[in-house]
Amino acid sequence: MQLRKVTAASAAVLALAVAATACGSSDKNDSGSSGGGGKIKVGIKFDQPGLGLKEPSGSFSGFDVDVATYVAGKLGYKPDQIEWVETKSADRENALSRGDVKFIAATYSINDERKQKVDFAGPYLLAHQDLLVKKDSDVSKGTDLNGKKLCSVTGSTSAQNVQKTIAPKANLKEYSGYSECIAALQSGAVDAVTTDDSILAGFASQDKYKDQFKLAGLKLSNENYGVGVKKGDSATLKKINDALTTMVSDGSWQKAVDKNFGPANYKNEPAPKIGQIVK
Ligand code: GLU
Repeated sequence: MQLRKVTAASAAVLALAVAATACGSSDKNDSGSSGGGGKIKVGIKFDQPGLGLKEPSGSFSGFDVDVATYVAGKLGYKPDQIEWVETKSADRENALSRGDVKFIAATYSINDERKQKVDFAGPYLLAHQDLLVKKDSDVSKGTDLNGKKLCSVTGSTSAQNVQKTIAPKANLKEYSGYSECIAALQSGAVDAVTTDDSILAGFASQDKYKDQFKLAGLKLSNENYGVGVKKGDSATLKKINDALTTMVSDGSWQKAVDKNFGPANYKNEPAPKIGQIVK
């Protein structure tokens, strides 16, 4: 009996200790904390080779990952203090508004509609919407895409541009990620995948797709990639703009370009100037 009481008491103490630890660690995990031993949550894509990719080993690679790692460094966080969070195209504004992540570097184009909900640092890359088709496809410049089966992603500017300007009468299939569109292209379910050339080049160069696909090279839009932050977080915004400026001037930006776009043979545009959007 006595023993049972002691056990119950120590269980209660243990429960309290566990609760206290849980509290402590959630404080530390606060994405708003500035460095020290804490973590920072950063939104990226998980399925875009060359930009934001979760490798089978569990590590992360890509240009956005390198930009985000550099930026997090300037905010006071070492690479092992970064917690990568998948932010799919349609989830990005909400992830920032809710505070799920401190910032997002996920092929995230700056535009007026999104600026109503979030703030953007940058731009840090200029890409262009393009089409990825099968190697033997006759879809090219001048092809009327109305009536064609196109695949893009929900919540992307790519899907929006198709519906508004590129081909309002296209048969547009929307998935939650581009990897699903690539599978649809491979199986013949769609005629083309449309999104930024940077993303399409990354997929086309994958070993498993070698010599299967080609980019049409159409430059259908200007996509100015920004780093998204919560609306009104001007302190973080300024720090990220400073970090991006330094990333270009100290050569780290070019290094990240060579490392991530080199293998895909993606001919990127020169580094944009901070605050200068190419319309
Ligand atoms: N850059 C475009 C966008 O932000 C397309 C790529 C994406 O969906 O992430 O919508």
